[in-house]
Amino acid sequence: MHFENSLAFARKTDSEDVLREFRTEFHIPEINGKPCVYLTGNSLGLLPKAAEKAIKDELEDWKNLGVEGHFHGKNPWFHYHKFLSENAALVVGAKPIEVVVMNQLSSNLHFLFVSFYRPTPTRYKIIMEAGAFPSDMYLVESQVKFHGFDPSEAIIEVKPRDGEHTLRHEDIIEVIENNKDTTALVFFSGVQYYTGQVFNIEDITKKAHEIGAVAGFDLAHAAGNINLELNKWDVDFAAWCSYKYLNSGPGSVGGVFVNERYANDNSLPRFAGWWGHDESVRFKMLKGFIPETGAAGWQVSNAPVLSMSVHKASLEIFARAGMSRLIEKGKNLNAYLEFIINDSIHQNQNLKLEIITPKYPERGCQISILTDENGKALFDHLTQAGVIADWRNPNVIRMAPVALYNRFEDIYRLGQILASF
Ligand SMILES: *Cc1c(COP(=O)(O)O)cnc(C)c1O
Repeated sequence: MHFENSLAFARKTDSEDVLREFRTEFHIPEINGKPCVYLTGNSLGLLPKAAEKAIKDELEDWKNLGVEGHFHGKNPWFHYHKFLSENAALVVGAKPIEVVVMNQLSSNLHFLFVSFYRPTPTRYKIIMEAGAFPSDMYLVESQVKFHGFDPSEAIIEVKPRDGEHTLRHEDIIEVIENNKDTTALVFFSGVQYYTGQVFNIEDITKKAHEIGAVAGFDLAHAAGNINLELNKWDVDFAAWCSYKYLNSGPGSVGGVFVNERYANDNSLPRFAGWWGHDESVRFKMLKGFIPETGAAGWQVSNAPVLSMSVHKASLEIFARAGMSRLIEKGKNLNAYLEFIINDSIHQNQNLKLEIITPKYPERGCQISILTDENGKALFDHLTQAGVIADWRNPNVIRMAPVALYNRFEDIYRLGQILASF
């Protein structure tokens, strides 16, 4: 795509965008009486208008039916998770049986580690990226300790080379090879939250399997953002949250993928609860846990219907828009963002910025910008002028233009604001 730093270009591109109508399905926050330039869909996605009705429908059923809503509601709560599996599977490239929506991300990863991190005295290491999202660092550390190992020995972090900000794929593969007899689990994010780097999930999984390890992924910044083919790539397990690119509200329910080869594997240890129990006998209240087939068998508690109703409405938007169209638009929008940032740096000597996010296909809808000592002042300037971006200590500004509701005009406006710093 050929880009120009002009309002005419941005508006023309928006008018030709096949997904342009989706923006009208979201509430766009205002700053100083004008819709803001919202670039934090990677942190908290915007509210879909359909979510308000979805949550109200469930409140109505509760109001009018009480406990009977479990079987006689519009969307009977007893089966509620099933209303989401198909559309969630479309987002991550899975079969519906491999996906369930439940709990929240970090809790889900703990439950999945119970089943998939099975260390032995000789094969016990976890390989992950250095500088992972804090929750992932803590959960891996605590899991390793829980099994009686020393985190400083059992956790192998892959780091960028000196003077570089992102990981080289060949270094990840080499670290796995170098620990081939001692590694139990290779655990990476799909998209690195700080740098926006997309990891090669397919290749990492292949290498993990080659050395006899399990491959698991945290897709918090990947689900709803990049192309995912979890089934085809033969990933063992994955989990993600729904409130970032998936627009399902603060702290909303998470998603889980368990490869179909484990669908009937009752030998795997797991922490059980009644909602993962065979549905046909769930309410018989008998002893002896019999898991549901597939990912649904990892459920523990009954469905949090109010937050799931929002997620359900949001997933329906993704199903209508289609991941391939969203990815195509996101790619162009993000390339335009990069063009505008670089053009602004070129025009304004005050901007001492460096884009650290790699090029496509090693990126999704995110650009991370390394700032100098004026970074915080620049960030405040953006905020005052109506841009909601994201400041990450020590010195990075993250921006995520998302295909469902961001416009090329938003990016153009950002450029004007950068120019006036
Ligand atoms: C956002 C995010 C989380 C958040 O975890 P919650 O359990 O939903 O609070 C965890 N891991 C990564 C990589 C994230 O980006």
